Amino acid sequence: MAESTKAELYRKLPSVDELTRQAQLLSLAAAEGQVAVTSAARTVLARLREQIATGTLDEHTLGLAISGLPDAVERQLRRSLQYSLRAVINATGVILHTNLGRAPLSANVFEHIRSAAEGYSNLEFDLETGARGKRDVHVDRLFRQLFSAGLGGPDQGGEISTIVVNNNAAAVLLALNTLAEGGEVIVSRGELVEIGGSFRIPDVMAKSGAILREVGTTNRTRITDYERAIGEKTRSLLRVHRSNFQITGFTEQPSLQELVSLARARNLPLIEDLGSGALFDLRSLGISGEPGVIDSVASGVDVVTYSGDKLLGGPQAGLLTGKRDLIARIRANPLFRALRVDKLAYAALEATLLAYVKRDHDAIPIVRMMRINADEVRKRAASLIESVNGSGLRLEMVAGESVVGGGAAPSAVLPTFVIAMTSEQFSADELAARLRTSKTPIIARVEDGRVLLDLRTVFPEQDTVIASALANIAHN
Ligand SMILES: *Cc1c(COP(=O)(O)O)cnc(C)c1O
Repeated sequence: MAESTKAELYRKLPSVDELTRQAQLLSLAAAEGQVAVTSAARTVLARLREQIATGTLDEHTLGLAISGLPDAVERQLRRSLQYSLRAVINATGVILHTNLGRAPLSANVFEHIRSAAEGYSNLEFDLETGARGKRDVHVDRLFRQLFSAGLGGPDQGGEISTIVVNNNAAAVLLALNTLAEGGEVIVSRGELVEIGGSFRIPDVMAKSGAILREVGTTNRTRITDYERAIGEKTRSLLRVHRSNFQITGFTEQPSLQELVSLARARNLPLIEDLGSGALFDLRSLGISGEPGVIDSVASGVDVVTYSGDKLLGGPQAGLLTGKRDLIARIRANPLFRALRVDKLAYAALEATLLAYVKRDHDAIPIVRMMRINADEVRKRAASLIESVNGSGLRLEMVAGESVVGGGAAPSAVLPTFVIAMTSEQFSADELAARLRTSKTPIIARVEDGRVLLDLRTVFPEQDTVIASALANIAHN
């Protein structure tokens, strides 16, 4: 389109002033405020100018766009007043889905957050003495109870303490900075992993001021490799959970016990970045090879780091559990002050840990989801299929696998049944898009031209929401 024609089109656009004086927008301003309406009008007009510039609007379509301006401004305003962070239904079957907010919190956790946050609290106040207190106490006492039970006696639990920072990436950074700044940390080449969200062990180590000393090869590292690398500058040994990837075939890795013995013999702290850090015995669900926090502490690891919102099932946080003197040094690092968490996180963690102490595992949503058996999922899926039957969608029950996710081993899967959905009218991608744009967005997996819905990660009260969304899609 010639520049002169475009100039004419621009001239046809009303000014912000003219537009907002239209009756519909005057009454909108009375309800929502003039500032909000003016801002929405600016956004909409800017969009039209851009469409003229790119040639998507010509003299024919512009007239229509101009007559629709008041409605467009109203829609824009409504959208801008909506929350961007919204609740969704996770029908992917990935229990700890990083993109969907990892661990959901239960109602009792939520109640505790509310009681601690809506008014004042004793976050750093000792109610007995009336003196200043430390925020750490609220969760450390519960961790001690859990560990003393798990370690077979209160004495051992007493030697162990736990502190909280913003996330596990921060926990690793803080541990390395405190225990190894300026010195070397020995890590196996097979553990120099990248976790989602650009967390790379070598990069975090560089930022901590510790020097990475790689030993072994990608697939095989022996205890003698660590032994030979220990020298004057060594400050610590580090073991990292490989999280989202696996090395199979011709592989070798020293046992945790061997690393503990070597660290003890050379008087070096052994740090283990567990990543997920389960407080719940996954072996009871048939998931093996996923080390728990208590296993690591019991094996004699000096400092264990793990996330609060992965297998622990609580809020985003990074936990450092370990020998009391080392944790005290880490606590005294000025970086701790920069990485500490707020009262909401303490409240959420305290309520989550209390469920573990009471052995009320079903009170923790992700643990409950892991414990549901495939037959229960099948029954719910069957009644959902039944309830939308007769619509234009083809729904079939198929055996499948739910994924634990959240940095647990990729092999950590649970048998399940999924609803496989196809339609004559829409492709699988179109169906998935329609589910995403439902009133409560529903997130599903697309595989081999089918949409798969796994109810393991869907809260039972959401089954009917899915059923009506499916009925809606079928009839539109
Ligand atoms: C997930 C993970 C991290 C990062 O934890 P965040 O809580 O996401 O910061 C670090 N190390 C390992 C091994 C992990 O699995």
